[in-house]
Amino acid sequence: MTVTEELDEAGVHQLAEEFERRDAEYAIRWALEKFRSRAAICTSFQAEGMVILDMATRIDPGVRVFTIDTGRMPKETHELVDRVRERYGIRVEVHYPDFEELTRFVSMHGTNPFYRSQSLRQLCCEIRKVRPLIAALGDKEAWITGVRRSQTANRAGAGKVELDKAHGNIIKVNPLADWSEDRVWEYIRANDVPYNELYDKGFTSIGCAPCTRATQPGEDPRAGRWWWEDDSVPKECGIHLPTPVLPRSA
Ligand code: SF4
Repeated sequence: MTVTEELDEAGVHQLAEEFERRDAEYAIRWALEKFRSRAAICTSFQAEGMVILDMATRIDPGVRVFTIDTGRMPKETHELVDRVRERYGIRVEVHYPDFEELTRFVSMHGTNPFYRSQSLRQLCCEIRKVRPLIAALGDKEAWITGVRRSQTANRAGAGKVELDKAHGNIIKVNPLADWSEDRVWEYIRANDVPYNELYDKGFTSIGCAPCTRATQPGEDPRAGRWWWEDDSVPKECGIHLPTPVLPRSA
């Protein structure tokens, strides 16, 4: 019996209540001790992910870290990944979109189809992010993310620990769920944590280069993501949406 089979919905709910009274390190430590090499940090190297990574490497310097490289990342993100490897001495597992699937998509719809329609944007995110994530989670029973409740309406109900039904009932740990953006930056400054230099150029949320712009003071921090889309469309690529996806064995 695997650890996730031991943890049913009621058990996870109970843990989530307990984690609300604990600090972020407690949730990270719990996941790393419970799941060991079957747990990993999933990060796109935004500010929140850097806080998680910094905390986790203090707890376990050999912690597994993985990222999805969509093929459209800004050069500043790649530069940060190199700085992270150097600073923390860790190996970063990089997962890419399926080559044949991506070739078919780009051949049919072009290089930048996301500006033309919401459905093409979502299909691009599906191929470049969501499906590689499913593949990356295939050998994991727990993933640790930098999701915060105040980031988007879809994340407002995020628990510090959740049963992730969308990815085959594995465990998802969101240690910073109750953190504010200010608290994230206080941690980064206090601990001299490396961060993406695009933040110094006015970016407040960072994804793929063609789909992210800097924001103006007073704008929502995620207003620079898919900025051409109607505000009623969730500012989400889909990897943190509780949408049922392919079974783990698919
Ligand atoms: S953010 Fe843009 S380029 Fe990146 S996967 Fe989504 S639509 Fe494609």
